[in-house]
Amino acid sequence: MKRDFAVIGLGRFGGSICRELSMEGMQVLAIDNDEDKVNEYKNIASHAVIADSTDEVTLKELGIKNIDHVIVAIGDNIQASILTTVVLTDLGIKKITVKAQNDYHEKILNKIGADQVVHPERDMGKRIAHNIISSNILDYLELSDDHSIVEVKAGEKMQGKSLVDLDIRANYGCNVVAIKREKSINVSPSADDLLDSEDILIVIGADKDISRFEKHLV
Ligand code: ADP
Repeated sequence: MKRDFAVIGLGRFGGSICRELSMEGMQVLAIDNDEDKVNEYKNIASHAVIADSTDEVTLKELGIKNIDHVIVAIGDNIQASILTTVVLTDLGIKKITVKAQNDYHEKILNKIGADQVVHPERDMGKRIAHNIISSNILDYLELSDDHSIVEVKAGEKMQGKSLVDLDIRANYGCNVVAIKREKSINVSPSADDLLDSEDILIVIGADKDISRFEKHLV
């Protein structure tokens, strides 16, 4: 199903979102107040326009009210990001996602009605840090302050063992939700499937439990 998106701010983050959405066949209205940026996305987005997103009249004229989901990807100019978000909430946009530059910015965005606040640099930093600390953790996704989903390599200790043998839920309090083996992914692993050391387990749980489990693997 085609959905309408608008991306405001075509820096590295907004530009990348605009590119991916367009590649997925979505209708994207790309907005930036910098002519060069807009020219860069003319052949990528469905429409690319030069506009100042803090100006409510301009956004109305662009038909922003008919768009399902607006992504505000203005980075350094926090004031413009906040003003744009206020204008969009006033216009009653259904879904507004905003990139936050820091925690203070994030707090304000939540207060003024952004539906989703993303913090790509911080989140990517955390993922990379987890990956650097533990060579077992291949990827990491934070679900809340104390819960995550991680991808861990099974390793030699799990070779030839089943989930029943390991009893991960009872022993560590976390759940294996899927197992990746080469290019395939098993999203409902059965208790007696035998693991291979090269398998990648996708594990959900409290951070402290995941950490205990992951230490056991080494
Ligand atoms: P990133 O860190 O993702 O590269 P930047 O801060 O470099 O983000 O880019 C933000 C983009 O937002 C820039 O291209 C800038 O021209 C655009 N921008 C800033 N203020 C406005 C505004 N008021 N209206 C429209 N676009 C804006």
